[in-house]
Amino acid sequence: MRFSGWRVLREGLTGNKGWGPHWRDPEPKAEYDAIIIGGGGHGLSTAYYLAKNHGMTNIAVLEKGYLGGGNVGRNTTIVRANYFLEGNSEFYSHSLKLWEGLEQDLNYNVMHSQRGLINLFHSDGQRDAFARRGNAMINQGDDAELLDREGVRKYLPYLDFDTARFPIYGGLLHGRGGTARHDAVAWGYARGADQRGVDLIQQCEVTGIDIENGKVRGVQTTRGSIRAKKVGIVVAGRSGQVAAMAGMRLPIESHVLQAFVTEGLKPVIDHVVSFGMGHFYISQSDKGGLVFGGDLDFYASYASRGNLPMAEHVMEAGMTLMPMIGKAKVLRSWGGIMDMTPDGSPIIDKTETEGLFINGGWCYGGFKAVPGSGYSLAHLMATGDHHAPAAKFRLDRFRSGVGILDEEGTGSQHNLH
Ligand SMILES: Cc1cc2nc3c(=O)[nH]c(=O)nc-3n(C[C@H](O)[C@H](O)[C@H](O)COP(=O)(O)OP(=O)(O)OC[C@H]3O[C@@H](n4cnc5c(N)ncnc54)[C@H](O)[C@@H]3O)c2cc1C
Repeated sequence: MRFSGWRVLREGLTGNKGWGPHWRDPEPKAEYDAIIIGGGGHGLSTAYYLAKNHGMTNIAVLEKGYLGGGNVGRNTTIVRANYFLEGNSEFYSHSLKLWEGLEQDLNYNVMHSQRGLINLFHSDGQRDAFARRGNAMINQGDDAELLDREGVRKYLPYLDFDTARFPIYGGLLHGRGGTARHDAVAWGYARGADQRGVDLIQQCEVTGIDIENGKVRGVQTTRGSIRAKKVGIVVAGRSGQVAAMAGMRLPIESHVLQAFVTEGLKPVIDHVVSFGMGHFYISQSDKGGLVFGGDLDFYASYASRGNLPMAEHVMEAGMTLMPMIGKAKVLRSWGGIMDMTPDGSPIIDKTETEGLFINGGWCYGGFKAVPGSGYSLAHLMATGDHHAPAAKFRLDRFRSGVGILDEEGTGSQHNLH
């Protein structure tokens, strides 16, 4: 089934009876060429690119809940390529290029909107740091424009410029940054993978990983054992728990990150605005809700709900920046489990077990990485070679200290991220 304007029109005029399910609901087979554990954005995109780019179609994605029920459907939907360090820079640049062709590639409307992202700065030192970041982005082939205070005012006149706790000195505009509808991304990749023959198996929790003589042999699940010579662990906030099934101890801590959305309002915020100094960022969804968030709840947890002190902190920061939002009513809030690495950068690598691969450590930035991550892990699983844009995401950097990608500049302390 292909989507098109003509099809939407025809279905609309004939009672919408022609739409079928977007993917099958197959029983697990006894054996696959490859198994992906985790049906989030990264697991689904990995399966899609394994099938599309490498012709591997005898694949299963095993998801313990339902597709899109994890962080891929819980994030605040920001898509950007404004990273500073070599290693991250080329990876996110590649991912953004994939986003730009994603809807055509998947034949699915993921509502990718390049409305522009503005990172505010509030001191001379911060301006210098953002100028360097902007130059790094331009050198990478992406876009960046340094705005002074009046430049920011032109785009975001509703900010409190005059009595703010942190005076606004300017901002870094990344015009190709923006948002996308998060659950549609999961559905689009799921549909694309299913169309290429991938089995998407929901309500199937992996409970063990079978290893013999240093090689992976398959997995144990709540729906029986399944054999495979290649297995990818792609479970985001549960990375530590699933890797432990293979005897691995990962340098990852899981923390809760919360998000908030208001009642629907008329269009008022037409960019993504990031106020790092106050740990606050905001955009407006196509339905009109103001979508915003802040920093991590500062303790390790597997509970996907947050606490009130952090909610209060986020509201305060929002009010400091744009007092007008005090009039909006918060409708919903929720939390997701973040897989935090010590250097704030991800892992896409082989493991010491032959045939077992790991993808995780996305911290709070893994939604924008969904296309690039799946593309690169599929390359690694199919060919055995690291995909160039993701070649620095090695696990052993945490053991050796060589190749640490400390994007946040906070050193090896989780709690400073
Ligand atoms: C509030 C919030 C805001 C965020 N905002 C942004 C943002 O604006 N931009 C951005 O780039 N990133 C953002 N992120 C981060 C981003 O959402 C995540 O990094 C990314 O979604 C993680 O990858 P995923 O989609 O594969 O994870 P998930 O969707 O969590 O997928 C992992 C899947 O693995 C499954 N699983 C776990 N254990 C097992 C098992 N044993 N067996 C089978 N299946 C299992 C889970 O059920 C889950 O469905 C945000 C996250 C949160 C919580």
